[in-house]
Amino acid sequence: MRAQPKASHFIDGAYVEDTAGTPFDSLYPATGEVIAKLHAATPAIVEQAVAAAKRAQPEWAAMSPTARGRILKKAADIMRARNRELSELETLDTGKPIQETIVADPTSGADSFEFFGGVAAAALNGEHIPLGADFAYTKRVPIGVCVGIGAWNYPQQIACWKAAPALVSGNAMVFKPSENTPLGALKIAEILIEAGLPKGLFNVIQGDRDTGPLLVGHPDVGKVSLTGSVPTGRKVAAAAAGQLKHVTMELGGKSPLIVFEDADLDSAIGGAMLGNFYSTGQVCSNGTRVFVQKGVKEQFLKGLKARTERIVIGDPMDEATQLGPMVSRPQRDKVLAYIEAGRAEGATLVTGGAIPNDVPAEGTYIQPTVFADVTDTMTIAREEIFGPVMCVLDFDGEDEVIARANATEFGLSAGVFTSDITRAHRVVDRLEAGTLWINTYNLCPVEIPFGGSKQSGFGRENSVAALQHYTELKTVYVAMGKVEAPY
Ligand code: NAD
Repeated sequence: MRAQPKASHFIDGAYVEDTAGTPFDSLYPATGEVIAKLHAATPAIVEQAVAAAKRAQPEWAAMSPTARGRILKKAADIMRARNRELSELETLDTGKPIQETIVADPTSGADSFEFFGGVAAAALNGEHIPLGADFAYTKRVPIGVCVGIGAWNYPQQIACWKAAPALVSGNAMVFKPSENTPLGALKIAEILIEAGLPKGLFNVIQGDRDTGPLLVGHPDVGKVSLTGSVPTGRKVAAAAAGQLKHVTMELGGKSPLIVFEDADLDSAIGGAMLGNFYSTGQVCSNGTRVFVQKGVKEQFLKGLKARTERIVIGDPMDEATQLGPMVSRPQRDKVLAYIEAGRAEGATLVTGGAIPNDVPAEGTYIQPTVFADVTDTMTIAREEIFGPVMCVLDFDGEDEVIARANATEFGLSAGVFTSDITRAHRVVDRLEAGTLWINTYNLCPVEIPFGGSKQSGFGRENSVAALQHYTELKTVYVAMGKVEAPY
């Protein structure tokens, strides 16, 4: 088994196994090959992980942000030095092509460690509030033990995006990766130890929807950050609310990408393709409802079809491959069912729609697919597909398209392509979403806040904004004179 870790879990600085946990296999999506055999965490493992985090956290919180940050920056350096090895593991874990993982996965995790490692010393300061003779001051204090729960599309990035702001703020974390992609987070845990992180501060335990609630409901856990679907978000937020825990919810979307007639069409087509086919369409912020103004519809579709049919599908370990398999068979089947619904409800299939030829039978591949003439009420225009399926919808005018773009329960992201600068800002101002792009799509550098509104979640990852979600404000009133009491 070519990606077998030393054990299923990483707790208190070391690999730990508990064979009493439900066994599960990790599969390479390109071939169906079993690459690792693991066990889900038992309640005893959950206890052990939370206890290790709780034990380690106070001493860590007592260190200066600069000292904590130095360790994170060292971890960033190690990740960059091992980029090839980590990217190959990410490709095995997810099936995403090495062409992507080598530039987008460990590197974005490293960016996160580097950014938070550097910014913490300046961004965790409190305030001094003058009150005449008296004064008050505020401190940003860590929450304590935080739980991170990940989705399967960016396993290493998600682990780092949660670990970096949590750790640098003085918290400890127990992280549970998705059961579909259990491997990457274990390596991150190993690297953090190598970089000098004291043991117990970043623990990884395996498991699925039965394990997650044990972490969320644990009385020693003060915060939960979930990346996952909206239905899971509702359950996790409800469970956390039972004990009034802090939550960050990075959930799903059905984001609009609007192409006006005056847009640079090549860029708009490129943006729409990146925003639908990158990572085989398994990106939460994808612009899956592509609204194209009627005057450029035919030209847009012609260019889109030609470029989509040139996408290289194949072995994810081949540097030339641009589109790998879906993460799992159930996910592929779900996407195929949506494609069938698109056909049945009358959308026009422009290209794709099937399993490609010449791929391993046990691989979970699917062609990049474009539907045109999609209407707002069709299932494929309303529900998150989470696969390489682009829906193209027509529109006439600005007010109309904004109203239609906003007519969804989701609010993760949105994009607009236009060469009219005032229209660009007017439109993004009226779109209901947490992260928006003008004349590009899906760029998420660590410096900018990322997250959703409406049913797509709350809280923000990345940027200094994330630190607020891993700290509490403590206010101290200082009296400089005698207490004047009326009794
Ligand atoms: P999912 O909701 O099925 O699972 C997410 C994680 O939650 C997994 O680790 C799972 O084991 C765990 N889980 C499931 N039920 C739980 C429960 N009751 N309590 C605690 N944990 C539980 O999502 P997925 O299929 O792994 O990922 C795809 C979804 O994630 C899509 O909807 C996508 O849009 C979303 N996503 C969002 C972002 C973002 O940043 N907004 C990023 C990536 C993915």
